[in-house]
Formats: sequence, C-alpha cells, structure tokens
Amino acid sequence: MHKAAIFAAEIFMQTIIGEDIEKARHYLMNGELVGIPTETVYGLAGNALDENAVVKIFEAKNRPSFNPLIIHVGSWQMLEKYVEHVPAKAKLLADKFTPGPLTFLLPKKNTVPDMVTAGSDKVAIRIPNHPLTLSLLKSLDFPLAAPSANPFGYISPTTAQHVLEGLEGKIPYILDGGAANVGLESTIIGFDERENVLLYRTGGISAEQIEEVLKEKIAAAQISPQKNPETSGRLKSHYAPHTPLYIGNIDELKKQFDGKQIAIISFTRQIDGIDENRQFVLSPSGNLAEAAKNLFTALRLTDKLKVDVILAEKFPDEGIGRAINDRLGKAQAENKK
Ligand code: AMP
Ligand code: MG
Repeated sequence: MHKAAIFAAEIFMQTIIGEDIEKARHYLMNGELVGIPTETVYGLAGNALDENAVVKIFEAKNRPSFNPLIIHVGSWQMLEKYVEHVPAKAKLLADKFTPGPLTFLLPKKNTVPDMVTAGSDKVAIRIPNHPLTLSLLKSLDFPLAAPSANPFGYISPTTAQHVLEGLEGKIPYILDGGAANVGLESTIIGFDERENVLLYRTGGISAEQIEEVLKEKIAAAQISPQKNPETSGRLKSHYAPHTPLYIGNIDELKKQFDGKQIAIISFTRQIDGIDENRQFVLSPSGNLAEAAKNLFTALRLTDKLKVDVILAEKFPDEGIGRAINDRLGKAQAENKK
C-alpha cells in the first residue's frame, strides 16, 4: 500500500451501523460519539457531563459553539437531577407528553457544563420516546447531549442512513432504530417569571396540544437571534437543502419558474405536467403527522435530483402543519445566501 493511503486509513474512523445497545453504551462510556434514534430525528450523542465529548459533538457537526445542545435523559427522575426547579406547568405537560417530542428549558444545576448550554443558566432537556434509546439512557449514569446528527445547517436525519451520509468517518457507531416516527425536531418550551409557558420552537407537539392541557393560550418567546445566539434553533441557517426552495401555492410558483427544472413537495396531490419522479406527495390522505414524518426524507431526495428549484406547498397553518411551514420557511430563507 502507498504510504499516504496507510496514513489516510489510520486517521479515518470507520462508521458502523447496527442495533447493538451494548456497543453504543461502550462507546459513550468511553467518551466517544454515537448516532442515536429518537422519535423526532436522529441525534449525535455524547456524554453531556464530559466536556471532551461535548467538544467532539461541536466538531463533528461543524456547529458553532454558541449554539447550545439539548440533553436527553431516560426518565423524569433523571431529568430532575439536572435542573434546579420544575414549574407546575412543566410537570403537567410532562405527564401528558413525555417521553415524547417536548423539550423543557429549565434552570440548570452546576453539574451541567456551561459548554452544553453555551453559557446560559438554562438547560434544554427532554425524554425521547424511542425504545432503543430509552433503554440506552436508562443503562447510563449520565445524560446524553444530542443535537441532530447532521452537519450544521443541513437537513436533519430521520434514518441511520441519513446519519451515515453526513457523518461517515467522524463517529464510530450509529444505533439503528428505524425511520423516525415523528420526523420533525422537538417542540421547545420555556417559562416566564410567572411560570407561564413560552414557545421557543415549534415541533413534534403542537401549540394547540399544549394549550389543550393547560386550558390557556401560550405565547411565543420574544428573542432576537442576533442578541441571543444561544436560542439559535431560531436562526434561519437550519434545515436547508442545497437547492433553492420556494414555499407557497404550487400552481402560482410553477408559473413563476416556467422553463426551470422543478421538483415538487406537496401535501396530498400530484401536480399536472411535472415528471412523477420529481414529485413527493407527503400524505395522500391529508394527514399532517404523516406529512411531517416524510418531510425531511423528501427534502433530501429532491436535493439529490439536482434540479434548479424545489417548490413546496404551504401546509395548513394548524397543529404540526405550523412546524412543517416553519422548516420550509427556514429552508427558503437560505436561498439568498
Ligand atoms: P438541535 O438539537 O440541533 O435540534 O438544536 C437544539 C436547539 O435547542 C438550539 O439550536 C436552541 O435553539 C435550543 N436550545 C438548546 N439549549 C438551549 C438553551 N440552553 N437555551 C435556549 N435554547 C436552547
Ligand atoms: Mg439541528
């Protein structure tokens, strides 16, 4: 073998996909990173209490260190070990929605490294609802910091294969738990001084679902991404395909991009006059949860077609449809960069 090739082989870490919780546990206990399945999207997990592992997460993703990480625990008792205080409304919502796609922004205990929260005194924490990851978390005596397992700025992964596409050679192991059931990131909520709920990011649990449990309206958190880079889940440079994407009424967009190579992401129906292989109908039966589950895979597939533009239908602005529109809107915001 050529000398350079030997060197390359030595620095290249082989990434294995498997279903072995013990193997995942072994790597995590040794400060390594593992791709883990959750019901939202796949996470890039490391020991949240080990600063070296946390640094590896930022490096592998190429994620700016001012962008804080969500930490994952296996039970509510474990969650309480890492936060100073739990508002009554947090507990009420947890009883209903956890394990599940709801992240709580709560005052952190000192044991959580500042690096995880980008210096904030609040930590984002949740209990993911996936059998493999729940048993992994319950077998560990530390929480897992786990942002989405994709290079910073690209579309979040919803299968083990997506993780491999973005992080091959950068992590030793991906725990394969099948396609993510929800397919969108978690909803993030925090609390104001009076312990009322503030919505930081739309996601797998809709505002309506939260309001139904609380029997009151919830407000959006007022944050300026420029002034508060730590809440940068709201920065626009997220979730974006490389191909320019436009969201709106498909028939009108189609006229606007006449003569261009077009791919289409629509809710329930195909569009006349466009090659079927370039069309992705997210839910023929009109089910928003099913559409959410298929969204990121459709974005990846349309991106691979190397067309001029992706045209995405605006979804009904209700329930999880709002989270779908939020992600498509963020992708569109990347066009001008
Ligand atoms: P990701 O795990 O890639 O879906 O992104 C995590 C997102 O959660 C961040 O970009 C922030 O928007 C939000 N987040 C995590 N931790 C905090 C925190 N301590 N304060 C405010 N927002 C947070
Ligand atoms: Mg992400």
